[in-house]
Amino acid sequence: MTASGIGGTTREVYDPLTTTYSFACPHGRRAQVPLSSFRQLELLPGASHPAVYRVVFGCRCGEEHPGLVSHDDLDWAPLGAAAGVSFHNLMTARESSLAAELTDLAATRIGAGEWPWSFFCLLEGRPRPMTPSALTFLAPGQGSVGIAVRCPSCSAVSVNLVTRQHVDLPFWNDARVGVVDHVFPADALRVVEEFRAELASARFDEKRLDLEG
Ligand SMILES: [Zn+2]
Ligand SMILES: [Zn+2]
Repeated sequence: MTASGIGGTTREVYDPLTTTYSFACPHGRRAQVPLSSFRQLELLPGASHPAVYRVVFGCRCGEEHPGLVSHDDLDWAPLGAAAGVSFHNLMTARESSLAAELTDLAATRIGAGEWPWSFFCLLEGRPRPMTPSALTFLAPGQGSVGIAVRCPSCSAVSVNLVTRQHVDLPFWNDARVGVVDHVFPADALRVVEEFRAELASARFDEKRLDLEG
């Protein structure tokens, strides 16, 4: 996989060493933000090779800005697939490809039944694997982040309350998550303000997230 050339830039968007995405900030330096700083994700109509997502992210400057992320950068770069980085392997005293190391590790864990990201689908009443592109809205709270997820399996939108690590770190799956006690129609949430209002008034049930269950 190669760096995605969106908008004429060939700059790598995702940095696997810091698990952050890099975007332009209109006020100066490029912003490096983790996935949990995203606020909204939306598949851009028309672009399919590669598919491109329009995102809104919370910038370190305090504002929210739009950005573009390719599907590869969103879902696969965090697993190392797009990492063009090499590192000095102390064990073998050779340069190793970080991408190869990370994808080997990811493949092994997925093969063993672990999934990099998961959520609780309320409509189906069970935990489901997901990828970052299934996220539609995110809203940070105190020590947690509310996420609206379009289920890759049934398309219903569920809202979960999870830790930041659950979002930012592949294979970090919270053992328990909060789940808003009603399902959202696919078009119920259109802007992030609506999502924040829903979160503020929502009731959460606690659900277990082990996918084996
Ligand atoms: Zn900014
Ligand atoms: Zn579902």
